[in-house]
Amino acid sequence: MVPEGSSMWLLRLLRDIQLAQFYWPILEQLNVTRPEHFDFVRPEDLDSIGMGRPAQRRLAEALKRHRSGIKSRNWVYKILGGFAPEQETTPPLDSSLGLPESEGGLKCLIPEASVCRGELLGSGCFGVVHRGLWTLPGGQSVPVAVKSLRVGPEGPVGAELGDFLREVSVMMNLDHQHVLRLHGLVLGQPLQMVMELAPLGSLHARLTAPAPTPPLPVSLLCLFLRQLAGAMTYLGACGLVHRDLATRNLLLAGPQTIKVADFGLVRPIGGTRGRYVMGGPRPIPYAWCAPESLRQGAFSSASDVWMFGVTLWEMFSGGEEPWAGIPPYLILHRLEKDRARLPRPPLCSRALYAIALRCWAPHPADRPYFSQLEGLLQEAWPPEGHCVRDIMEPGALRMESGDPITIIEGSPSSHSPDATTWKGQNSKTLKVGSFPASAVTLADRPAPRPVHRGAPGPLPGERRRGIANGDRAKPKLQDLPSVRGQQRDLSLARTKGTSKSLESVLSLGPRPTGGGSSPPELRTAKVVPEGPPAPPPRPPFASNSASQPSQPPKERGPWPKREPHGHPAGAPAVSKATAPSGGLLPDPELQRRIMEVELSVHGVTHRECQAALRATGGDVVSAIQNLKVDQLFHLGSRSWADCRRILEHYKWDLSAASRYVLARP
Ligand code: ATP
Repeated sequence: MVPEGSSMWLLRLLRDIQLAQFYWPILEQLNVTRPEHFDFVRPEDLDSIGMGRPAQRRLAEALKRHRSGIKSRNWVYKILGGFAPEQETTPPLDSSLGLPESEGGLKCLIPEASVCRGELLGSGCFGVVHRGLWTLPGGQSVPVAVKSLRVGPEGPVGAELGDFLREVSVMMNLDHQHVLRLHGLVLGQPLQMVMELAPLGSLHARLTAPAPTPPLPVSLLCLFLRQLAGAMTYLGACGLVHRDLATRNLLLAGPQTIKVADFGLVRPIGGTRGRYVMGGPRPIPYAWCAPESLRQGAFSSASDVWMFGVTLWEMFSGGEEPWAGIPPYLILHRLEKDRARLPRPPLCSRALYAIALRCWAPHPADRPYFSQLEGLLQEAWPPEGHCVRDIMEPGALRMESGDPITIIEGSPSSHSPDATTWKGQNSKTLKVGSFPASAVTLADRPAPRPVHRGAPGPLPGERRRGIANGDRAKPKLQDLPSVRGQQRDLSLARTKGTSKSLESVLSLGPRPTGGGSSPPELRTAKVVPEGPPAPPPRPPFASNSASQPSQPPKERGPWPKREPHGHPAGAPAVSKATAPSGGLLPDPELQRRIMEVELSVHGVTHRECQAALRATGGDVVSAIQNLKVDQLFHLGSRSWADCRRILEHYKWDLSAASRYVLARP
């Protein structure tokens, strides 16, 4: 690539579009030496050097191509650690399957011609997934899933490209039987991720499949939970948090095998407290999130454990949406103020539900580790038995002698089984109901697997668990956030019908359904180092009543008067660390203004708007501007003052300003 400092890039670009005659005028009259200088060149300037409008359009197109080319190569180099796209490698062969081995680094670059795509399996936030066939150099064909990066009319969008490559960079280092395997990357147009195929689709789709698809046996759900706990123990040991654990992100590789997938949101847990703090405004899958994630954007293995509890609940509820019908802004309130928890689903035994409740301990440190969960699940495993006499009585679970029965509720050690009624599932009919205990003999309980039962602490690498908030710091290049603004409308549309989305938070509108894609803005979170402990957290609405979550908050006094925002260069406008911890309490006017700010700056939380308004003494316009500067600040290496200037230049259009910043990493 031509060095950016030289103007050779310009000559080449102009030659490519037969406009080389404008090289000197552009260079000398317009003083353009770098691609970004064109942002400040107006059509009249080009008119003045004699360039006609059709030629100007050609130039604009060529510049777009040039920029996306620079960007993608930068990202690709970053991810591949110096692999040049031309250096496609032939995958080394595994002795049994002929699949490439993982030796660290990218498993392999796969030549475009060796992958053929077939049926569309689905689409996510930044890509579409097809069933495919990968032909190995030896001629062997392997069924695969091919995720192709979505490419817009202007090439890949920076944010989506970043997320896509981040997912590659995470997956390429993972190797676990219950973690979806990445085979390699096709550096073509579009970029393609070649993954292990999960032929049976997502667990959520299976759970919600309509009749005549039978429900899943309880014992299989328990097996899935154990597989999930194993995979999550592994991820934790790799120093990663998943952040989007849900049945929609568990794929069925076989009838009895789940694999954890969707690593677009996975982040390393940095710092000694083993936490990852989201550094910017974003909607998140509220109903799955731990309170500290909702309150502070803090994610850790412990918040993944919380999500594990919600995933357990989903499994035993037939894929229902957690907290359905509860407006997202009330979920945190219900969790913290009311200490409400998702109810026990009928299929879920008390023992399993007790595990879920432990996962939902308010304080992260009180939740079990994944390594402990494997043992806890083993202990709560539903006993298996066989029917010894036909049961045909109305109201009882029908069973015939010999039917295998899974005991959901009942005490196998009861001394008077005749008097006892148990609840169970007939594994032959998959019906659930009660029956006299005497109708079933219990099989010998399988010996618990040698898992990490009740381990007193985390496994090596299974780190955690702070509750402090972090300072905002510049993210590493690899963790650069997405362009939130430029994806605004698209993101809102995509989050519909999935987890609690920003849209539902803002509009408090109709509830979305479960499953589907993850909110894309959650992908825009950044790594920030651990910071000093934060002031005590507060729910979005302060309330005097612990039992009335839907009551509007009580009115309180006006804003404490503050100086309008005046950040020094490089200082974040409204950071969690600087947000005052008390004082401002809700009233209708405050709520109206908060809503106004929320609607104007996509992805900001209620709390951030509140803090921004507090910092500007209630001035909505300044609060909006400061939040926008804050968002831009976190996109790249610009100072806060620079971000403000750029936004002013773009007339506070955050999308345009974000594009400008991201085009110049
Ligand atoms: P997002 O990535 O936005 O969170 P998602 O998980 O739905 O959302 P993708 O990972 O792009 O998005 O997957 C899209 C669809 O393709 C999903 O519904 C998923 O079930 C299916 N899919 C993804 N990977 C595979 C795979 N390896 N095998 C089979 N189906 C897959």
